[in-house]
Amino acid sequence: MSFGKVITLNTGRKIPQVGFGTWLSKPNEVGNAVEIAVRSGYRHLDLARVYGNQDEIGRALKKVIPSVVSREDLFITSKLWNSAHQPNQVEAALDETLQQLGVDYLDLYLVHWPVAFEPGRGLFPTEGDMARLDMETSLVDTWNAMIKLVDTGKVKNIGVSNFTIPQLQGIIDTTGVVPAVNQIEAHPHLLQDDLVAYCKEKNIHLTAYSPLGNNLIGLPLLTEHPIVKEVAEKLDATPAQVLIAWCVYRGYSVIPKSVHEERIVSNFHQVKLDKEDYEKITSIGVKDHKRFNIPITYSPKWDINVFDEPIEKTATHEVKIV
Ligand code: NAP
Repeated sequence: MSFGKVITLNTGRKIPQVGFGTWLSKPNEVGNAVEIAVRSGYRHLDLARVYGNQDEIGRALKKVIPSVVSREDLFITSKLWNSAHQPNQVEAALDETLQQLGVDYLDLYLVHWPVAFEPGRGLFPTEGDMARLDMETSLVDTWNAMIKLVDTGKVKNIGVSNFTIPQLQGIIDTTGVVPAVNQIEAHPHLLQDDLVAYCKEKNIHLTAYSPLGNNLIGLPLLTEHPIVKEVAEKLDATPAQVLIAWCVYRGYSVIPKSVHEERIVSNFHQVKLDKEDYEKITSIGVKDHKRFNIPITYSPKWDINVFDEPIEKTATHEVKIV
């Protein structure tokens, strides 16, 4: 089992530190995976409209709420997709997600990306091989609409995902409302010490996504990295358990995804790193910085500079913060 730790957010509400991811979990697999996860003890589920699997997850939730867990004891996160950033779309998008999941509130609703797409043309409006961006709607516009959701009782906490320091600072300065959470790509290749320090100072909790490394672009997962394997052998743990422990050591909550029962169960068995092993693993990113999830590299391409990574310098657009 996990150590059962929960972290108190800046709203006073609590998020379980080890959660369960659902991106790329396929139809006819995802519902079963979520059910196994909840039965195995996971109490924090990470979902999103764009993953296209919330209907099936909703059916799985019916099998475990309330027979295995009460709704109040489950922490459910979902995310506002880019095509609904326009303020008049935000509540309707939340309602659609609630309906798909068959629940009447979310514990956490995140702005999935600091990027708006043109509305009314489906989830992925495109022109040729380019995503159709909405460069009129700012992050502040969307964040103000998210703030209004809290009073509806349909979300307990609001936050963001894939936001950088200037983007966070922009919405905080303009609205005065600090996101409860920033969900970011985080693993030993991507340390982001500046962002971690900034979020600590502002009391924004960080959730680590892709903690095992990205599985989209054909590179081996970090579970194959020799240093991770060496530490895993020493601790008689799996490499995935070591990577999850590395995220926990940094204070993140962490949401590993799997559709395989054995992995779902073993990923939830926490192990502890000592300082020496933590530093050994951290040396991976000190020597070799790698971010995997960069929208300008997608197909269709999002022609926008989100993170200021070298590969994004050619982007035509900058994020519209205010
Ligand atoms: P991840 O959880 O780090 O890795 C998932 C991959 O690792 C899958 O291929 C999985 O395969 C494999 N795996 C799982 N357990 C394993 C184990 N014990 N040993 C070896 N391989 C293992 O990556 P992720 O799915 O990208 O990220 C986790 C979650 O974060 C997502 O599911 C999603 O909920 C969230 N996320 C959010 C964003 C965002 O923009 N906010 C972006 C990406 C992800 P099997 O399923 O075949 O076991």
